Amino acid sequence: MDRQQEFVLRTIEERDIRFVRVWFTDVLGTLKSVAIAPAELEGAFAEGIGFDGSVIEGLARVFEADMLLRPDAATFQVLPWRGEGGPTTARMFADIRLPDGTPSQADPRTVLRRAMSKAGEQGFTFYTHPEIEFYLFKPDLEPGRPPQPVDEAGFFDHVPYGTAHDFRRAAITRLEQMGISVEFSHHEGGPGQNEIDLRYADALSTADNVMTFRAIVKETALERGVFASFMPKPLVGQPGSAMHTHLSLFDGDSNAFYEAGAPYQLSKTGRQFIAGLLVHANEISAVTNQWVNSYKRIWSGGEAPAHVCWGHNNRSAMVRVPMHKPGKEQSVRVEVRSIDSACNPYLAYAVLLAAGLKGIEESYELPPEAEDDVWQLTDRERRAMGIDPLPSSLDEAIRIMEDSDLVAETLGEHVFDFFLRNKRAEWSAYREQVTQFELDQYLKRL
Ligand code: GLU
Ligand code: MG
Ligand code: MG
Repeated sequence: MDRQQEFVLRTIEERDIRFVRVWFTDVLGTLKSVAIAPAELEGAFAEGIGFDGSVIEGLARVFEADMLLRPDAATFQVLPWRGEGGPTTARMFADIRLPDGTPSQADPRTVLRRAMSKAGEQGFTFYTHPEIEFYLFKPDLEPGRPPQPVDEAGFFDHVPYGTAHDFRRAAITRLEQMGISVEFSHHEGGPGQNEIDLRYADALSTADNVMTFRAIVKETALERGVFASFMPKPLVGQPGSAMHTHLSLFDGDSNAFYEAGAPYQLSKTGRQFIAGLLVHANEISAVTNQWVNSYKRIWSGGEAPAHVCWGHNNRSAMVRVPMHKPGKEQSVRVEVRSIDSACNPYLAYAVLLAAGLKGIEESYELPPEAEDDVWQLTDRERRAMGIDPLPSSLDEAIRIMEDSDLVAETLGEHVFDFFLRNKRAEWSAYREQVTQFELDQYLKRL
């Protein structure tokens, strides 16, 4: 047993923790949880906890169903929303292993770890910092009626007596209690829409933190009699929910994206990384924007980017280089704005990293930046500037991903095949639907 594992066992004893939840994530980014008794933990660290992987989306085929969960002691935290009056509960993320102890190829954490160790071979550590948007709705949902937001406020509004800031304070307190630092939070542009930004961390910790964040936000909402949704585009005519993520590569202590005196202080490595994100944007889109609904966010204007370009402080660009604060070379970074709040963060960060690294490996040239609001340009103007659209639907995104060596290599064969099969099924189920829009438009007219 290592020191972290000993620390976990000691804490469980000292704090009288009765339940330990072991968390992992399926290929589509759904959090899974199994509770174990503290007495089982020592064995779980040594040998793992056996479970039937075939019941989880994308994890195993029925004929190779036996899987093991190996709790990662470094992620141990007490759950702040359990134990007020009842027994204290803690949680750990687990890695999924095969019975022989090798990492499961279907585990999203394994996929991200593999991508990060590839960056490691080139001397880079990958840091990410997500800005997570979501909506708060009233609990009474009626079929056929749009969900009702909890307030009518907008961007940065302070809402007196509103649910939103009390909600944010409660959620942020819990995040901090679980060791997740929050940098910034505010009301977003849509009614009932909020944003909470997490402090940067290595990408694996960030992805774990995003999963924890979603659980905390949903639990906190339910307790307050509202519900939270990370659906990319829940309301017609209102902004969708993005998960803008700031990316940077560090070489030891030094920021590989920083170069004093370069335009925007952005190094050659930084420029090549952005070029990689742009060249491979359409291939990775099915992963960063994985639902039918994701493309409703992208293609409804507003501040969601629909075109493959970069810019400096340009909110219509897919990749943005934020304003550089003098003296802060550590903070030079790139912000990806296409990715949405309902992605699987492990897989999404893995493909973003792989795309950026490819740009560095192949010394891609960065095209000129987009200085205009790309939404206002005509298709022809955009074509003349070499600015391509992002996929217009999940169907198109899947077709492009099918031919991508980069995505196949990054996700590994198992996840790549499962993901495509699952997404094709989602698209055909959607295609068969007759929507309210069609009934409204056609039923009486035709
Ligand atoms: N909600 C917007 C989107 O869907 C982003 C708003 C912002 O710039 O923070 O992309
Ligand atoms: Mg925002
Ligand atoms: Mg942003």
